[in-house]
Amino acid sequence: MAKTIVQKYGGTSVGDTTKIKNVANRIKSYFDNGDNVAVVVSAMGHTTDILVDLAEQITDNPPKRELDMLLSTGEQVSVALLAMALESIGVPAKSFTGFQIKMMTDGNHSNAKIDSIDRTRIDHAFSERKVAIIAGFQGIDKDENITTLGRGGSDTTAVAIAAALGADECEIYTDVNGVYTTDPNKVPEAKMLDQITYEEMLELASLGAGVLHSRSVELAMNYGVTIHVRSSFHREPGTLVVSEDKIMEKMKVSGVTVKNDQARVTIPDVKDQPGIAAELFTALSAKDIIVDVIVQSSPRDGVNTISFTISKKDVPTTKLVIEDLKKKLSSGALEIDDDIAILSAVGVGMKSHVGVAAQMFQALATEGVNILMISTSEIKISCVIPQSKSKQGVQAIHSAFGLGN
Ligand code: ADP
Ligand code: ASP
Ligand code: MG
Repeated sequence: MAKTIVQKYGGTSVGDTTKIKNVANRIKSYFDNGDNVAVVVSAMGHTTDILVDLAEQITDNPPKRELDMLLSTGEQVSVALLAMALESIGVPAKSFTGFQIKMMTDGNHSNAKIDSIDRTRIDHAFSERKVAIIAGFQGIDKDENITTLGRGGSDTTAVAIAAALGADECEIYTDVNGVYTTDPNKVPEAKMLDQITYEEMLELASLGAGVLHSRSVELAMNYGVTIHVRSSFHREPGTLVVSEDKIMEKMKVSGVTVKNDQARVTIPDVKDQPGIAAELFTALSAKDIIVDVIVQSSPRDGVNTISFTISKKDVPTTKLVIEDLKKKLSSGALEIDDDIAILSAVGVGMKSHVGVAAQMFQALATEGVNILMISTSEIKISCVIPQSKSKQGVQAIHSAFGLGN
């Protein structure tokens, strides 16, 4: 029986027309095998950045609906070009926008979540023996406004399509060979992993490993889609993202990440009474602000200090939220430090190994890196450190856990 394969090609893989032709040749080999192939494509190269920049030249604060209308055009260009490239080598293909396959999302522009997909047109393309080429990153809300899924969101489109089609494989083609122990473009010693669990990949993606959009991993985990991250420049296999029971040897630490676009907010002299933290973090979440590490000091003289990290872009809104709550919350002056980085080590083996945190802190201490905040979960340890030490810190942790080549 014919297999159903979903492939996603990222921006660098379709960066110019020569690369688009190469991608078409690769797709042809799968199509010639008799398989049903659905292909999700990102915008060419840095197109999305260029579109963002155009909007910023017009206004500091573009209406979110119009920004999505603009950003979604990048993918429309690449699906059409790829369909043409396929047709020109004798492979019948049809391109689709998010609108055309009813990729329904909520109305949260620039970070929309997928609600449902209508597979009818994709199935129809398959029944005509055509490759279905689908624009990544975009959908529509219930009022038919164009939405986008957040930067890097084409990965999520691909996994959602693979889940909707019950595909046998979901291949994510990119410009590196697979998922590495840390960003191979920043740390040359990084090693490619043959396999990684959904849980680990989800943590790594959320903590700054840009190789997969974190919601794509969440979807894959929920729908049991195996993701194969691999290079679009050669045929070697890459990394499989799978469930934990498929991995025999659990690594204590399988990856290290760094996030540099973060800021630490400190509110001193917060009244020590029930409901205060709830009020603060409810107000922040109402503004869609994602809070990462949170630390509260033990109370002294009826007050304590609350510190938390947020994305730098959310600093202005956070300031407004806290200003609004000021009277209820605190008598002290707000402090913002945006010279920070969050370093994290992730591994399912942490569940059964002791001393992992100590080993990480020791590695940072040896390099003279001061730890500003710490947060842990069952499979990760994060340290907030001064940004100037982030490169040194990643390297130290990476080698302390023996991850390098
Ligand atoms: P695409 O355009 O194909 O979606 P991305 O730029 O979104 O590609 O993702 C690939 C990039 O992710 C790589 O070039 C690499 O620099 C970066 N990256 C960060 N962390 C990792 C990691 N742990 N493993 C592999 N790549 C990583
Ligand atoms: N083109 C979009 C972006 O640059 C989506 C993607 O590449 O996945 O963020
Ligand atoms: Mg990407």
